[in-house]
Amino acid sequence: VQSHYDAIIIGGGPAGCAAAAHLARCRWSTAIIDRSMAGSLLAGLGSVAYFPGFPEAISGQELLRRMRRQAELAGAQLLSETASGVSADGGTLKLAAESGKEFTARAIVVATGCGLRASYAPGERELLGNGVYLDAHADGPSAAKKIAAVVGKSRHAAEEALALVRFAERVHFIVPSSKIEADEPLIEAIHKQRTIEMHYSTSLKKVCGEKHVTSITVLTGGQEKEIPLAAVFTYVQEHKPTTGFLANLLSLTHAGAVKVDRQLSTEVAGLFACGDVLSGRPQLPLISASQGVLAGMGADRHLSSAQAEASGGHHAV
Ligand SMILES: Cc1cc2nc3c(=O)[nH]c(=O)nc-3n(C[C@H](O)[C@H](O)[C@H](O)COP(=O)(O)OP(=O)(O)OC[C@H]3O[C@@H](n4cnc5c(N)ncnc54)[C@H](O)[C@@H]3O)c2cc1C
Repeated sequence: VQSHYDAIIIGGGPAGCAAAAHLARCRWSTAIIDRSMAGSLLAGLGSVAYFPGFPEAISGQELLRRMRRQAELAGAQLLSETASGVSADGGTLKLAAESGKEFTARAIVVATGCGLRASYAPGERELLGNGVYLDAHADGPSAAKKIAAVVGKSRHAAEEALALVRFAERVHFIVPSSKIEADEPLIEAIHKQRTIEMHYSTSLKKVCGEKHVTSITVLTGGQEKEIPLAAVFTYVQEHKPTTGFLANLLSLTHAGAVKVDRQLSTEVAGLFACGDVLSGRPQLPLISASQGVLAGMGADRHLSSAQAEASGGHHAV
């Protein structure tokens, strides 16, 4: 395994694979470093309902396998390593791995996602993509003419409950608090919807079903209650961008997210970021992949201008 590459991508999810495929196709020597080749959240999704080019739903694992294969076919190397730190030394970026190895590159793309939440209700994680969803616009059609639930107390959860009305026959809005954290007009719009049933001060205890969600158990007024349904959309804000290993190099947002400009370039020359690590919460794999291409384009421009400046660069042949 070589230790110098033109570009290193940290994270082999949709964002990282798209960035790596782009850079390798541009003929830069490219490596994807991932702490576990099954680490992407996509690998755990039973099915991804909406990804252009896949009219029938595709399993998250299969979609990820294809994305990684595409990056490899373009020429990228996949390495099983965990990044523990990044530093800048002139025009060279250094990546330290937990294994003790060091890698150098002239461009690094951070695509480490936002990881899993600290805790899940029993059944919630197991049924991700099979009745447990996080985007009413992408997965709402799976709840068409069925009973669904939205769990959350944020403005985002409220907007998603309203969006779900277009699809579901009935929406149980499970609010783990005495009120929704949204402005009055939005709350009024929710209360006016006859197909939305509000459950304030209620928490999600369990998601039930073998291959697909069949019901949820909630705790309300000290009593457990089962609600039969076909889909549950969860908006619990406990995700955090995976950026701890960048803290010494970059100023992160209050929430720990990486700050980038419109070309997804950070304040450090040659360092780019894309995917869920930017939003700090799960987005659609399609959005992460698109950002990966944009970050790859930015890194390509950076490498090309660095190569033009310094003769004898490392452009792969
Ligand atoms: C709970 C949940 C449910 C979801 N449900 C759906 C759904 O139903 N439908 C849908 O379409 N999408 C869903 N998604 C969204 C989808 O999984 C993500 O948007 C997508 O995988 C994000 O892509 P990414 O490349 O930005 O990050 P990820 O896919 O998370 O990839 C990040 C990669 O970085 C690696 N990594 C992290 N830190 C390090 C490090 N220090 N060193 C090396 N490697 C590292 C990880 O191992 C991982 O492979 C869900 C996401 C979550 C969290």
